[in-house]
Amino acid sequence: MKRRILIAGNWKMHLNTSQASMLVHRLQERIKIYRDVEVVLFPSMLTLQPLSMQIDRRKFRLGAQNAFYEDEGAFTGEVSATMLRDLVHYVLIGHSERRHNFHETDKEIAKKVAACLRNDLSPILCVGETKSERLAKETKQVLHDQLHAGLSSVVASDLKDIVIAYEPTWALSDGHNYKDHVIAKPDQIAEAAAVIRRNLTHMFGERAAAKVRILYGGSTNPEVARSYLDIEGIDGLLVGGASLNYHHFSAIVEAAYRLTGGNSNG
Ligand code: PEP
Repeated sequence: MKRRILIAGNWKMHLNTSQASMLVHRLQERIKIYRDVEVVLFPSMLTLQPLSMQIDRRKFRLGAQNAFYEDEGAFTGEVSATMLRDLVHYVLIGHSERRHNFHETDKEIAKKVAACLRNDLSPILCVGETKSERLAKETKQVLHDQLHAGLSSVVASDLKDIVIAYEPTWALSDGHNYKDHVIAKPDQIAEAAAVIRRNLTHMFGERAAAKVRILYGGSTNPEVARSYLDIEGIDGLLVGGASLNYHHFSAIVEAAYRLTGGNSNG
């Protein structure tokens, strides 16, 4: 099954409103309308509203880096999927920085996935092992456990709206060293993508599982983007550090575009 390539830029806790606006301006100058490549920007919560007025919707979609699992209520400091539904298409759920720095549990992650679906938003569920888990040969088990827990309230018909991002924490950059950080090898990524697809097939059946896009994330830069996109079973990239550099991010999008063989509209 042909799945549309998705290139996502996770800006994390970077850029104030005017810096974010400038980055979108620069990206808009460089990135064309690519029918076969979906480009999604994940700025801070604060900048979503102004950027939603600025972006060329033929080129970009917006996503949120997180969402709370209740729709409204006395939850000081949280932003719900209900509040985001008119602004964004996607929400990152269970990013490793949230799992590890904010101690987000699998149970909370499952509730966030459910909240996204209930509010017509597509969750990008992030999964991946730590360095010690890989060294202990626990990668398959970790992926199995994170998928089963994160998708515990999901049914097969939801899968068309779900994206999985494989992000081994040992391959993530600190935001600056994405060009010289230790990177995952294509065969490691291919193997993880196959494990993810097998789990989805087992849980929801082959037809539903085939609809899910699997992204790779971890120190992507323009030099390695094409080789990652060529990996069997990988449908796009989740980009951290390089998404803040308009030269690098637009080159990564361009690499995806070239892979599709063309179709730009100006
Ligand atoms: C991320 O944290 O989602 C990520 C992919 O970061 P980086 O590309 O900087 O490794």
